[in-house]
Amino acid sequence: MAKTALITGASRGIGRELALRLADEGNNIVVNYLFEDEDYAGAVAEIEKKGVKAIAIKADVSKFGEVEAMMKQTVETFGSIDILVNNAGITRDGLLARMKEEDFDAVINVNLKSVFNCCRHAVPYMMKQRSGCIINMASVVGLCGQGGQTNYSASKAGMIGFTKSLAKEIGSRNITVNAVAPGFVETPMTDAMPQKAREEILGSIPLRRGGSVDDIADAVAFLASEAASYITGHVLSVNGGMYM
Ligand code: NAP
Repeated sequence: MAKTALITGASRGIGRELALRLADEGNNIVVNYLFEDEDYAGAVAEIEKKGVKAIAIKADVSKFGEVEAMMKQTVETFGSIDILVNNAGITRDGLLARMKEEDFDAVINVNLKSVFNCCRHAVPYMMKQRSGCIINMASVVGLCGQGGQTNYSASKAGMIGFTKSLAKEIGSRNITVNAVAPGFVETPMTDAMPQKAREEILGSIPLRRGGSVDDIADAVAFLASEAASYITGHVLSVNGGMYM
């Protein structure tokens, strides 16, 4: 029977590629998105061409009630939730001395509280099924820090602690919880960076290139596969050697 994979923030960027890759593996897909534009409809159409079922659910992952409704709709539609990828994320970069309170709160809420919201509402279904796989999209800066990103780094480091704690809590129910920590990946998020900063980062990567969305999808597909069924509480760095 086909499994169900829900990917948050799957209308574009890394999330969209993850949804396509998990569809290639035969999973039915839930595309979560927030803003009303054409992207999510395009993602669903592309996924359905692969012969699996897909639906899009609009939900702000930072909102507890909206996430609860999304998980309920997922299980009502497909009968289970087997793979949860907490991918949605934002940046509001700035030096601490000038950072606005709302920019700190927004990043923590969308990047970290969302992981609590999604796991809180998906895990009871997974516990009942006695199986599940949760993958949290962290970042290299959650491991090594980055000036100008205290809010973002804190959210990603928090996600890593959350991953390890939950892995200990629900391992006995046959549910794995892991994190992927990408380095610099070419997406709309990094396209927004100044050219000089981009060049400096690329020059500092031992493999001398930015990561592609495919590189991240390979790691997520592995962690979601049977081949990774004995891996939990792990942080898989996919960063070209940027941080070891
Ligand atoms: P992106 O292109 O900016 O896409 C972000 C996605 O998150 C979009 O689909 C967006 O939905 C969704 N989103 C934002 N706020 C949301 C909310 N409140 N509720 C639901 N969805 C929301 O970013 P990306 O580069 O693909 O990054 C994906 C993940 O990888 C993020 O967690 C990011 O921190 C992490 N990451 C990225 C890099 C990199 O170099 N790109 C490196 C390390 C880690 P809408 O389209 O509806 O706005």
